[in-house]
Amino acid sequence: MASLLSVGSFLLWLLAMWIVFIGPPGAGKGTQCSRLVKSLGVPHLSTGDMLRDTERESPLGKVVASYIDGGRLAPDYLVMPIVNKRLSENDCQSGCLFDGFPRTVDQAELLDEFLRQRQVRIDAVLHLRVDSEVLLGRLLRRAELQNRQDDNKETISARLEVYRTQTAPVLQHYRGQGNVLEIDGDQSEDFVFADILTGLGLRK
Ligand code: AMP
Repeated sequence: MASLLSVGSFLLWLLAMWIVFIGPPGAGKGTQCSRLVKSLGVPHLSTGDMLRDTERESPLGKVVASYIDGGRLAPDYLVMPIVNKRLSENDCQSGCLFDGFPRTVDQAELLDEFLRQRQVRIDAVLHLRVDSEVLLGRLLRRAELQNRQDDNKETISARLEVYRTQTAPVLQHYRGQGNVLEIDGDQSEDFVFADILTGLGLRK
């Protein structure tokens, strides 16, 4: 498996690999992205992490935190400069793994345009599907274990609603491009990861 992955990594590097993870909050995107990043050696671009890294006490940080803590999407004028800056860095020239971006059809179109200028396109969109009852349970458990300001009952339901209304349509956008892989996220972490590798053609 290790050698298969290293051959796969080399091929991906040659081809340049742009992968988008889409799934509702609690679907396990962060966990699966970290595993895939380690296996493939491509950078992980998490807009949630980058936004959380904005100094909370700075004027900009306070604005960002108001969106995150309320479970609402930050506006594009805050998100896009962070994404563009990260994509201009050296390690992102041959691809990256997007986690939590694009979150709206507008962001997906901006990303398409950015990639078109580089004459590349999204290679695969991994859609992590998880039953909504399971999601709620996972998010509430995570709220108890971690100290995330946006993991509480009120913001959890706001975030699930934002996902349903603003992010789920992004899947339609990519289905039109024919590159969505459906992954059953309602399985153990290892099985989900195995399905991802199979879907990407890195494992039989
Ligand atoms: P995440 O860690 O991906 O669950 O993101 C946490 C929060 O960061 C979200 O609930 C939004 O408030 C904000 N956020 C993350 N990514 C984006 C994005 N692409 N567009 C707008 N807001 C975002």
